[in-house]
Amino acid sequence: MLLKSIVAGAAVAATLAAAASANAANAAPEAALPITAPWTGPFGGVPAFDRVTVEQLKPGLEIGMAEQLAEIDRIAADPAAPTFENTIAAMERSGRTLDRVSTVFGIYSSTLNDEAVQAVEREMAPRLAEFSDRITQNEALFKRIAAVYEARGTSGLTPEQQRLTWVIYTDFARSGAKLDAAAKQQLSAINQKLASLYTKFSQNVLADENDQQLVIESEADLAGLPEPVRAGAAQVAASRGKAGQWVIANTRSSVEPFLTYADRRDLREKVWRMFVSRGDNGGATDNNAIITEILQLRAERAKLLGYETHAHWRLENSMAKNPARAMELMEAVWTPAVARVHEEVADMQAIADKEGAGIRIEPWDYRYYAEKVRKAKYDLDETEITPYLQLENLREGMFYMARELFGFHFKPVDPAKVPVYHPDVRVWEVNDPQGKLVGLWYFDPYARKGKRSGAWMNAYRPQERFDGDVKTIVSNNSNFVKGKPGEPVLISWKDAETLFHEFGHALHGLSSNVNYPGVSGTRVARDYVEFPSQLLEHWLSTPEILDRYALHYQTGKPIPKELVAKIKKADTFNQGFDTVEYLSSALIDMKLHLAGAQKIDPDRFERETLAALGMPSEIVMRHRTPQFNHVFAGDGYSAGYYSYLWSDTLTADAWEAFTEAGGPWDKAVAQRLRDHVFSVGNTVDPADGYRAFRGRDAGIGALMRKRGFPVPPAAAPAAAKSK
Ligand SMILES: [Zn+2]
Repeated sequence: MLLKSIVAGAAVAATLAAAASANAANAAPEAALPITAPWTGPFGGVPAFDRVTVEQLKPGLEIGMAEQLAEIDRIAADPAAPTFENTIAAMERSGRTLDRVSTVFGIYSSTLNDEAVQAVEREMAPRLAEFSDRITQNEALFKRIAAVYEARGTSGLTPEQQRLTWVIYTDFARSGAKLDAAAKQQLSAINQKLASLYTKFSQNVLADENDQQLVIESEADLAGLPEPVRAGAAQVAASRGKAGQWVIANTRSSVEPFLTYADRRDLREKVWRMFVSRGDNGGATDNNAIITEILQLRAERAKLLGYETHAHWRLENSMAKNPARAMELMEAVWTPAVARVHEEVADMQAIADKEGAGIRIEPWDYRYYAEKVRKAKYDLDETEITPYLQLENLREGMFYMARELFGFHFKPVDPAKVPVYHPDVRVWEVNDPQGKLVGLWYFDPYARKGKRSGAWMNAYRPQERFDGDVKTIVSNNSNFVKGKPGEPVLISWKDAETLFHEFGHALHGLSSNVNYPGVSGTRVARDYVEFPSQLLEHWLSTPEILDRYALHYQTGKPIPKELVAKIKKADTFNQGFDTVEYLSSALIDMKLHLAGAQKIDPDRFERETLAALGMPSEIVMRHRTPQFNHVFAGDGYSAGYYSYLWSDTLTADAWEAFTEAGGPWDKAVAQRLRDHVFSVGNTVDPADGYRAFRGRDAGIGALMRKRGFPVPPAAAPAAAKSK
């Protein structure tokens, strides 16, 4: 996933991001605070992590907000007639200090989260929401924006300037800039309440992830776990003061391997229950009441803004445009996916019966028996693959891919030259074939306390060029379990795909070649942004990557061809599970936000909606409602979790553009991909950008082929619709 400005939880996050920018050459006296100071040093300046402290977060945010409000007031009060330059460009220039502080705040929130950071989050979330409302509700400012917007077709603006003007105008209008004073006040109160609730929600999930664990004291209880998983569990135990024991932490990266391999069914059930109950345990960290309140406030806000529901409001500026189109896609995939799950379960049950297990497949059995089916059907054992998947080698493989497809060369940066916020973080500089700097890539691979689970990309600084050539800084973050010191970190095939996925987001940011930060890099529609990242996952399984970089951690030998062939053959294996696990979450998200102002009991809504959908009892949602950070830790992916599927229709179709041509490394297709997708940011409408790349729109056919589901006749390859 992609981390968008964590601090701006309010409705106007995108606007804030667009409005926030500026070359803070005007060194304010407060710049004595390291967190507010312009970034200095090599590569066009880097964050001063060596001088920043938690104590600076709050005053830094305050200084940044005050500075931007003053800048905005100056723009709004400009006696000159509104022009793109004195209004839109001036807004792009504003808020630079807040940008820098917010970036650091976001990094502390997501990767160094402790009591002190949480106190700042609680205090500042509503204040930041109020701050962004003050900007979008500034009437004089909006009048100027509207004037530039009205004249955009006739005032000699470039297409990028017109697009940026449209983006800012639409964001303001959608955020209530047209409301009367009383409604604005009401809206701002809602946004502030929501910001506090989002903070509380994510802190509750993090608390359950940090505080709950399964401690294993006897080695016998590890039965079935491969060596790297045991080593990881021992490492987690040691880091939690339980040396000599094993700990399964309550995070995805610890839980999933355990559910896949542990022979002890009772322990699998225990771990499964712990993981799916995050935020749903009653007591101080329970999220149910918070969800009810969030949903009601969102419904109220949507009405206030003139929309039928929160979902309608959120999707208006997405590629899907409205909930109906998103639902149509989800429903088209849901039915064949559920049918596939029933087949998968039958296969698993047959194995369990043959073993005389005397059980009925339950959700804590799915991963475990799926492995057995994989072995039986495809003679493929995940534990055979993992020894070839060394984290550092795969990272080199990603660099190879970036060089071949994008012309990017990665070079490690001397740690003495660029400070980092944690000793695990490393930095690379990225150069083009001529040796010209493209940007920096920060890599933070390991799990630790205070880091949220999952994997994500974060842009510390977007690329821009309108006031001087600013190079981007991007980061990839994941939660691999660190092995013993000096030993390679071995990861699963799925984790390797995620690694390539997040790197795809990073390449999207690094490829950006635009003028204005508000439309730069990954600042594109939510249901488009996962397309570049999902596409890049495909290169992991190319022979060029596997032969060179999937090397056995003991023998150094490349992964055998027969094993790769088996991986390929098993390509669509377990797609029923993957699709239903994901899609059930996406459907619940959308239905919660289509339900309007009714008072929702989340557990009950989830249970009843899933029953009505025909959710297979052997699977649980990938993110159950009480722990659904995508949806309730901010507005970001709310009514937007469908985006992964929407993007995947593009991904599958775009991958076929390569396979139909000269293959994954086809230079001409790669060039088109860079020209029309990766480099353009939000300077063009995503549908137009895709069409320019592919020569037509994407149909659903490639998606269904990718997942091994029957292709509906209307979506046959030749029937791809054009606009
Ligand atoms: Zn992503």
